[in-house]
Amino acid sequence: MQQKRVFAPQEMIFKEGQMGECAYLIERGRVLIFIDKKGTEMPLRILGEGEVIGEMSLIDNTPRSASCRALSDCHLVVVTKEQLLDRITAADPVVRLLMKALLERLRSQNDVFRSRKPVVHAPMDPLIIDKREALERIGLENRIASGLEDNEFLPYYQAIFDLNTGVVIGCEALIRWHSKDQGVVSPVVFMDAMEESSLILKAGQMMIEKSMQDLPEISRHFSDPENFFVSINVSGRQFASLDFLAHLEATRQRLTIPSRQIKLELTERIMTEGPQALAMLRECRLLGYKLAIDDFGTGFSSLQYLAQMPLTDLKIDRSFVLRMKEGSKSLSIVQSLIHMARLLGMNLTAEGIEAPEQLRTLKELGVEMGQGYLFAKPIPLNEFVQLAKTHSRVA
Ligand code: C2E
Ligand code: CA
Ligand code: CA
Repeated sequence: MQQKRVFAPQEMIFKEGQMGECAYLIERGRVLIFIDKKGTEMPLRILGEGEVIGEMSLIDNTPRSASCRALSDCHLVVVTKEQLLDRITAADPVVRLLMKALLERLRSQNDVFRSRKPVVHAPMDPLIIDKREALERIGLENRIASGLEDNEFLPYYQAIFDLNTGVVIGCEALIRWHSKDQGVVSPVVFMDAMEESSLILKAGQMMIEKSMQDLPEISRHFSDPENFFVSINVSGRQFASLDFLAHLEATRQRLTIPSRQIKLELTERIMTEGPQALAMLRECRLLGYKLAIDDFGTGFSSLQYLAQMPLTDLKIDRSFVLRMKEGSKSLSIVQSLIHMARLLGMNLTAEGIEAPEQLRTLKELGVEMGQGYLFAKPIPLNEFVQLAKTHSRVA
């Protein structure tokens, strides 16, 4: 299909009743949308540069409900059915539901205008499945929002230990939801909904506040309390928010926690946020925070980005540790991650250590820190303090 089309003044672009094969973006010129009412042309709207025409019949798979004619020389960019439907399918289910509602309203307005009975339209697949998905998503978001209001979210802590000495030297704060109706809920259930809405900002602030509040109570039971650290997960949206650093610093200063005891865990996605993210990372480093790259190698990693970022730590994802058998690809990946981290002067933490053989291999490879079910699962504050009192080291 041609990418652009040019129409002369008064030339028809599409006719009422035809099936639509594409929509158009008006690059230059003006068009008239009109309907034919018993032989008389009834103008509906005039549209110009930057506006879209012909999208309705593509979305709900019905014949064009109006005609369109060029009013001047028109340069139109073609938007194919696939391009349009791909984007609609990828959109948030709530946005799709809103779109469907608006489209139906517009159609019925046109029907009233033409004094004919409303026609039942059959929407294309992307708009059919919406209601249930959208209702579920909005329902979950509402439950999360009221859970946040009612303080139902809190950090659990998982011990991080020195692989050589077995001493617990820090912990990772992992969010949990103590829901009134569902009991303890894992982030796997609600993290996507949080990250795709602004709920992550409130949840992120709560995690920063609570884990800094808990840190003195936790660290005092360990041999080197001044260097005991807490790792806090920070999502891309949270890191990009304007008040992230101001809130972090205000909380830290209020609770008098040294910045070296805070490690911020960021995912690779941060690397695609561009120069602003880089400037923020530098600022965090200047303030003395440790910065870890989490889940490295599972997303769209770029070594070039990695080398630019002022990171202190790299976390080896659980999926590599799990498949790290002799001669396996995962073992080679772990080896190259270690090599790369050394070159860049970064510390290494292996996640998801479940078996003694994994621990042994990681130790032999020279990984400094680790966490995993072999030693401890994420647990609430009181249990973590208990663990600290009895097991301040792995073995
Ligand atoms: P993550 O940051 O990669 O955290 C490590 C996950 O691995 C945690 O899952 C932890 O419980 C789990 N894990 C640790 N050791 C083992 C092991 O030996 N075996 C197995 N099977 N799993 C292990 P969790 O707590 O369910 O968290 C899942 C993800 O949710 C986290 O992955 C992180 O991406 C996100 N998340 C959790 N808390 C927060 C938070 O406060 N903020 C943000 N932005 N994301 C969070
Ligand atoms: Ca993490
Ligand atoms: Ca991880």
